[in-house]
Amino acid sequence: MDDFSSLETLLLYADADDDAEPGVAPPIHAAVPFSAPSAEAFAELSATPRHDRFYRRYGSPTQTRLEKVLAAAEGAEAALATASGMGAISTTLLALLSTGDHVVAQHSMYGGTLNLLKDVAPRLGIEVTFVDQTDTSAFAAALRPNTRLVMLETPSNPLLQLTDLRAVAGLARERGIRTLADNTVATPVNQRPLECGVDLVVHSVTKSLSGHSDVLAGVVAGSGELIDRIWHTHILTGAVLSPHDAWLALRGLRTLVMRVRRQNENALALARFLQDHPGVAAVNHPGLPEHPQHDLAKRQMTGYGGLLSFRPHGGRETAERLLSALRLVRRAPSLGGYRTLAVRPAAMWAIELTDEQLEEAGVPPALIRVAVGLENTDDLVADFERALAAAGAA
Ligand SMILES: *Cc1c(COP(=O)(O)O)cnc(C)c1O
Repeated sequence: MDDFSSLETLLLYADADDDAEPGVAPPIHAAVPFSAPSAEAFAELSATPRHDRFYRRYGSPTQTRLEKVLAAAEGAEAALATASGMGAISTTLLALLSTGDHVVAQHSMYGGTLNLLKDVAPRLGIEVTFVDQTDTSAFAAALRPNTRLVMLETPSNPLLQLTDLRAVAGLARERGIRTLADNTVATPVNQRPLECGVDLVVHSVTKSLSGHSDVLAGVVAGSGELIDRIWHTHILTGAVLSPHDAWLALRGLRTLVMRVRRQNENALALARFLQDHPGVAAVNHPGLPEHPQHDLAKRQMTGYGGLLSFRPHGGRETAERLLSALRLVRRAPSLGGYRTLAVRPAAMWAIELTDEQLEEAGVPPALIRVAVGLENTDDLVADFERALAAAGAA
């Protein structure tokens, strides 16, 4: 589908060559084994990477359609869809790294990614150095002769700090080191890591790409050669996406651009409202001119995304009262769904950390993270206005 370059149209037509039937929407291929007409046909399959008509752990026609659309969305040659975002990240690491290798990652990344790098990687003899993502020179200083991968995530969660993708990808490339970027928070509507020179993009498709809070899925996208390599590990680790979830993710993807644009608008409007509210001490959103990396955001992003965080005056009790006073907005983790969700990140750890430990992690106890949905902007802002008053934040 080289005829289209706009993301809106690619999301609708990148898999159109697979329309086998007159139906204008894809079917769900549930079969696990596929039959072949001859022994030669099976032999040919086993010599072909990424085949999707043999046994469903290797791939399925429904998964292939999803992968075509996901690859197109990121401007990638190929994509591999997985059972979750963590499935994409862990399979990629397992496929590309060996004992003795070194990884450079950010202090601030998705919790699951951090735990994988802190708890699992060392057991496999893989060393990881964590750096401040806002400081490009810290990445350069951390690189070693055995560094094989640099892992990036921008904007980060919950503080919305940015990584300069072009700069970091450039300095890694000069030394022959691969880069991987988690683009879940920004989405391909707002940010295109491959165009910045990054080698691999991963997503929790669970979030904005599927968009309805009812699918768990992931993807890794990049060159055909790298994705083939990751696929060879993936069919052995076996965390494969079900065709039902692939179909739901595909269904959600068709409307990605409209949804993300609305979320961009809602988040910026809410961030501006909170910024001006006397009951709010601080707001983090890359679209605000006050954000310390707003210039980088303008260079690197075409929209600023649906995620923001803020700290009301009055500490964690005020933040808790505020969350309880919201009427539309649900107290829940995750992001990118149709409803606005809010959570106090400090309360998401099973045993709450001490204030000192939280400060060390850069997460104030009263910080509230908001993942905006598709509500009418005035209704959304009004919900926060009412809750701030009810919580006595002003
Ligand atoms: C949710 C999330 C993940 C993990 O994705 P799952 O689909 O839950 O496995 C990874 N990275 C980011 C940035 C996320 O928000």
